[in-house]
Amino acid sequence: MPSATTIIGAGPAGSIAAIVLARAGWQVTLVEQHRFPRDKVCGECVSALGIDVLTRLRLIGALRSLGPTKLTRSVLVASDGSSASVDLPRPMWGLSRSALDDALLREARAAGATIEQPARCEDVDVERPHVVIRDLLTNCTREIRSDYVIIADGKAGCSLAPPPRTTDLGVKAHFADVDGRPDSIALFGLDGHYVGLAPIEGNRWNLCMSVPAARVRALRADLDALFEQCVRENRGLASRMRRARRIGPWLSSPLPRHAVRKHWPPRIIPIGNAAAALEPIGGEGIGLAMRSAELAAASLASSRRISHDDFDRLWRVRSIACRAMSKLLSSPMLAGDVIDAMRANDHLNHLAMGWMGKS
Ligand SMILES: Cc1cc2nc3c(=O)[nH]c(=O)nc-3n(C[C@H](O)[C@H](O)[C@H](O)COP(=O)(O)OP(=O)(O)OC[C@H]3O[C@@H](n4cnc5c(N)ncnc54)[C@H](O)[C@@H]3O)c2cc1C
Repeated sequence: MPSATTIIGAGPAGSIAAIVLARAGWQVTLVEQHRFPRDKVCGECVSALGIDVLTRLRLIGALRSLGPTKLTRSVLVASDGSSASVDLPRPMWGLSRSALDDALLREARAAGATIEQPARCEDVDVERPHVVIRDLLTNCTREIRSDYVIIADGKAGCSLAPPPRTTDLGVKAHFADVDGRPDSIALFGLDGHYVGLAPIEGNRWNLCMSVPAARVRALRADLDALFEQCVRENRGLASRMRRARRIGPWLSSPLPRHAVRKHWPPRIIPIGNAAAALEPIGGEGIGLAMRSAELAAASLASSRRISHDDFDRLWRVRSIACRAMSKLLSSPMLAGDVIDAMRANDHLNHLAMGWMGKS
């Protein structure tokens, strides 16, 4: 029997849940605080897991028309410039979050969801469960009653206990005139962190990094200075960015990283990053957000329970593999050895790709 649900957050998780439930005849209210299109800190690589969700939900044509780049290789580059290239078992997409999230929100509206935007969820009463939202145009608040509340806010900030903060930041900007093949995701190792570089639609490149907040503070948050330091510390990055120009603002935000939540109240359902957040090095977060949303919404629509185990299976191995890969690449002592091992051993590459969820 279709019911009413309120979904907090129109990132990939929230919009996919809205699409599935609205198509199943549910009364869906999707609450998003920002006006779209909006940019977001993200490497903007969509994994095959996410592309599969888009295909199953017949969204693939609309998304493909945005012109995503097709990514077929991943290249790891140590600070001395030595590198190893691995074919991705299945292609990924390079697509800006402003285009992806805007298109998914439009699909949610077309499926019949009511969109409250710009509106911020300020409270969730987990017992009833109801939500209080503030219309950011009129500054008025009101309560929305529903049978279920889906938390897709990227952090579970207004309901479940927020996970502990990491001491890292995500930093990103778009560039033009980057040298190198437009079919690869490149990951550059630095001392204590890493930088990712990938082509997206419109002949642009996304440069994104996970970086200790202390390093940014030491530079008084001068992100151009941080970028210049990174370029000096990795010869491979320097050669790719020789002619590059930044064509968008630097964005930064706290980097979430936490295991799958073990418990949530009966009619409150966290999906996407609100359920779990992994180290972004593998480019799996958007795919996991969409897949967890699809799983949760399909379970609700068919009156099945969503179990913690369903989510645990999605995230656990990927999380461990991505964290290990980030530690190895961020260690100048180890990165060169890892790259040598990857060059010499195809079997190891296949295993690593499998652990990161790419096969
Ligand atoms: C540095 C970095 C690089 C990354 N690179 C990649 C990558 O290349 N590939 C990949 O797949 N993943 C990547 N990720 C991870 C990816 O960005 C996330 O996993 C993904 O965005 C999670 O989607 P979501 O829908 O759960 O949450 P989000 O995308 O965070 O969306 C949440 C939405 O909720 C809204 N919201 C929040 N609070 C409220 C509120 N109170 N009321 C109303 N609305 C609210 C927000 O405005 C936002 O639109 C990266 C992450 C970082 C930090």
